[in-house]
Amino acid sequence: MNVYDSERIAEALKPLKYQETSDLKRADLVIVNTCAIREKAEQKVFSFLGRLAGLKRKNPDIIIGVGGCVAQQEGEKILERVPHLDVVFGTHAISRLPKIIQRVEIKKCRIVDVETITTIDEFEAVRDSVDEGKVARFVTIMRGCDNYCTYCVVPYVRGGERSRNPEHIIEEISGLVDKGLREVTLLGQNVNSYGKKQGLCSFSELLYRINEIEGLLRVRFTTSHPKDLSDALINAFKELPKLCNHIHLPVQSGSNKILERMNRKYNRQQYLEKVDKLRRVKPDIAISSDFIVGFPGETPADFEETLNLIRQVRYDSLFAFKYSDRPNASASQLSAKVPEWEKKVRLQRLLDLQEDITLKKNRSLVGSTQIILVEGFSKKQSSKVRESRPPADLQWMGRTSTNKVVNFFQDETDASGNEMLTGRLVHVRIENGFSHSLWGKPVHVEPSAIVWKGVESDAA
Ligand code: SAH
Ligand code: SF4
Repeated sequence: MNVYDSERIAEALKPLKYQETSDLKRADLVIVNTCAIREKAEQKVFSFLGRLAGLKRKNPDIIIGVGGCVAQQEGEKILERVPHLDVVFGTHAISRLPKIIQRVEIKKCRIVDVETITTIDEFEAVRDSVDEGKVARFVTIMRGCDNYCTYCVVPYVRGGERSRNPEHIIEEISGLVDKGLREVTLLGQNVNSYGKKQGLCSFSELLYRINEIEGLLRVRFTTSHPKDLSDALINAFKELPKLCNHIHLPVQSGSNKILERMNRKYNRQQYLEKVDKLRRVKPDIAISSDFIVGFPGETPADFEETLNLIRQVRYDSLFAFKYSDRPNASASQLSAKVPEWEKKVRLQRLLDLQEDITLKKNRSLVGSTQIILVEGFSKKQSSKVRESRPPADLQWMGRTSTNKVVNFFQDETDASGNEMLTGRLVHVRIENGFSHSLWGKPVHVEPSAIVWKGVESDAA
């Protein structure tokens, strides 16, 4: 969500006279986008903002702004806490940002805008000014959340659930495909309740429509709330060729007592039944999840139930977090808080268990051939592999349909030839499985049957 919002902030600012720079010291305008989901994320915001004081001392004309969820949550209070800050803008103020910046330029004043708009016009707008050439992107299909999980700040900083019009979503994705998009991830706090509140089409109907978009190769979505995972959506995994073979299905805890205290509205059994259904429809579907450890009242026995659930489901990957109290979220009022050191120990045990499962799963893929969509050059090179190759070799990175990162070298002597591979589907024979990625050798590059702005081409 934040990556998407940061892109929207950058797009909104394009008409102003500023140019992007990667050198903070040369900036005349600094916008910090923020996340309030956990206390640690919020602390990082304030320490980063603190470090910007030096920039303001050197260049008093610099404009420093902070947006996103922390801005929405704290509003004016941030101006008091950060004296060198010029602008605080909330989660609904992105389209107003250019005007705000212009006012600060002229009037040299400080501005706070944390108004929540009542219309959804801004959010409905179809993005068409994005840069070309990005293979995989997020597209927001809904905003906000009505679920009020007791630990969560989202309903307070992002507001209630609003779904975007399907026509606008289709138009936006089609436009992005013309600019090189091949894989879209539909984004929302709870995408599978898409459309219900406003009586729009259902989420699975939306997926069927997106599946028809010519030139688009893959569709993903995140996040799904287990309570809203319908049979129609489960069946879509079987029926829609573009729908990737992966679902992120956050469970948060394996203990029914804790799930109830979290207000998750499902129990362990119901969750496991959904996992079974998914695997009956798609036996090799990859499943990932989110976990919170140390929720108030979580006993060692509750935590063991969480570990057992992980052993039972055998996730492909997961994110796990230490519980942190959030302003407004009702769990902050709950007693029986788990001490910080205990949360740390539990988190490490959980991560160790999953690392073992992920590693085994990734190693079991050695020898198989996976079709990956190449996103670009790989940032990190595995040191073992790097030593055996000349530095000039190109290392590419892509993902399997199951969302596993695969790195490989392009070699003129093998099937990958010397073409640009970004946006292409490459068949890679897996030679090594690590805990966060796979390594392989390309054996075939699919001809691209992509229509680029009306021109049929077979090499993108
Ligand atoms: N809407 C998504 C999640 C959004 S937040 C969903 O319902 O799954 C992403 C993750 O952050 C959550 O799944 C949860 O695991 C974690 N999280 C949210 N609030 C938290 C808190 N107060 N402390 C620790 N982790 C939290
Ligand atoms: Fe937060 Fe729960 Fe909504 Fe997810 S579903 S955003 S965790 S309130």
